[in-house]
Amino acid sequence: MPTVKMQRADVVIVGSGGAAVAAAVEVAEQGASAIVLEREAELGGASNSSTGFCCLVDTPLQREIGLQDSPDLAFQDWIHVGRGAANEEWARFYIDHTLHELFEWAQERGVRWVGLLPYEGNSVPRMHGPENGGPGLWKALYETALARGARIWLPGTAATEILMEGGRAVGVRAHKVDTGEDLEFRASAIVLASGGFASNIDMIYEHCPQFRGRRILEGSHIGARGEGHLMAAGTGAALTHMNELALYIHAVPDHLDPTGRRGLVIWGLPRAIWVNSQGRRFRDEPFPGAVSGTSVVLGQEPAEYWAIIDSDMVEGVTVVDPYYWQPGTDEPDEDKVSIFLVTSPHVLSANSLEDLAQRAGLPATALAETVSTYNSYLERGLDRDPDFGRLLPGMRPIKWPPYFAFHFFPLARATLGGVKADLRCRVLNKWYEPIPGLFAAGEVAGAAGGHIQGKVGLGGTGVGPSLLSGRVAGAWAAHEAGIGPGFVGKANRPGKSSA
Ligand SMILES: Cc1cc2nc3c(=O)[nH]c(=O)nc-3n(C[C@H](O)[C@H](O)[C@H](O)COP(=O)(O)OP(=O)(O)OC[C@H]3O[C@@H](n4cnc5c(N)ncnc54)[C@H](O)[C@@H]3O)c2cc1C
Repeated sequence: MPTVKMQRADVVIVGSGGAAVAAAVEVAEQGASAIVLEREAELGGASNSSTGFCCLVDTPLQREIGLQDSPDLAFQDWIHVGRGAANEEWARFYIDHTLHELFEWAQERGVRWVGLLPYEGNSVPRMHGPENGGPGLWKALYETALARGARIWLPGTAATEILMEGGRAVGVRAHKVDTGEDLEFRASAIVLASGGFASNIDMIYEHCPQFRGRRILEGSHIGARGEGHLMAAGTGAALTHMNELALYIHAVPDHLDPTGRRGLVIWGLPRAIWVNSQGRRFRDEPFPGAVSGTSVVLGQEPAEYWAIIDSDMVEGVTVVDPYYWQPGTDEPDEDKVSIFLVTSPHVLSANSLEDLAQRAGLPATALAETVSTYNSYLERGLDRDPDFGRLLPGMRPIKWPPYFAFHFFPLARATLGGVKADLRCRVLNKWYEPIPGLFAAGEVAGAAGGHIQGKVGLGGTGVGPSLLSGRVAGAWAAHEAGIGPGFVGKANRPGKSSA
């Protein structure tokens, strides 16, 4: 029998993204010890490669510009957009705690909130941007965790099994990815924070039969393969809402990915028109969000489309992927974006619309008619296009060659369901009873509680709930080890504190 190296801590955390880093901060601040296991060579997961926007409610940034928000208003929007499928208990808990326990908590730990964006489905803008995006947010919390004493982070260490004894989670089996060395970690509590499965198209097709037969691109961090879900299932955990995905609908296949499965989200095409494979427009383009856009794109046959622009509109195109950013920020690397625009086989250009149509395989007459009809609305000075109601002020006709066509497919950005967990982030079994010693936070738990968002998120509802549930899991995991009172939070409601 080969010897297995064993290590012990109060809490073992699986994953090193936003949920994990928040859990590590909390464990350390309670005075407990933690070991953090990360499968990939680099720490940070999707959180560290995200734009880091968080849905936060009734904050100083909102008030400074005169916005009136409230937890009740946000809850109403949340449940409406989630189409009745959100975990309402967790949604309420999250919204009530965003001001003191996320906005202020993160600020006190080095995060600077610098931007506020609107997003479809919100009555007022709520997407709060941290300085330097997801990398800036993650780094500030990681440095806080180190400073508070959570210093054992083991990249390149893949967890493979939750060890159970007498119905209780007591440890994690793992191996070093490079050497294959077997390892065992023992703890009083395990926090599963291993992210979603949006980078595992086989698992997506298995759990989301509605997408079979359609090309969906993998679009999360490379580590989002659903290994945590399988480990949790091995302990008897309930998995819920596994068929709900957060799709982005403006992504091209990543031509640098040898598997042909991954995609790249493209931003910065606000004046484009979208045409389907018949060369026809099919919706009001400025609403690309998941709330109303996804079903329309999925309704096209095939479920893909082309965004058409001219040379006047190409400046400002960005590729939302760390490879195309300056290191440690979400600022674009202009050189890499320029190279992408000329080398990607999914971004075509031509000096005439006829040639563009031919290169894209679109019907040339239909494309020319579509562009000419759209241009005529602008030339006539209409406020709205009569076909789809697009607001036209600020739009420009598409008439300056070269013309460009971006071939867009739906991309799985995040999974919305996962391991069922209660308000203490305790993993629940199929009878909804807690599995002692096992906690789940972040995307592995559908961002929090199993399905906090429901069918669609309000925007910023991946990172925000991952951080808060990470904190909650960390605090209760430390408590399980006999240290600290568990999560004690201040709700943004008079006289109300947390469960
Ligand atoms: C490019 C991009 C932009 C996004 N932008 C936003 C945004 O602005 N706002 C928003 O709300 N959401 C956004 N999202 C979604 C959001 O980033 C995620 O839902 C959230 O960060 C998940 O956090 P997490 O800690 O649960 O998982 P992650 O940050 O993905 O961390 C999980 C970690 O676990 C590791 N892991 C997996 N399996 C194992 C194993 N077996 N052993 C050890 N480690 C393992 C993974 O490698 C990974 O590092 C974005 C996603 C992407 C990909």
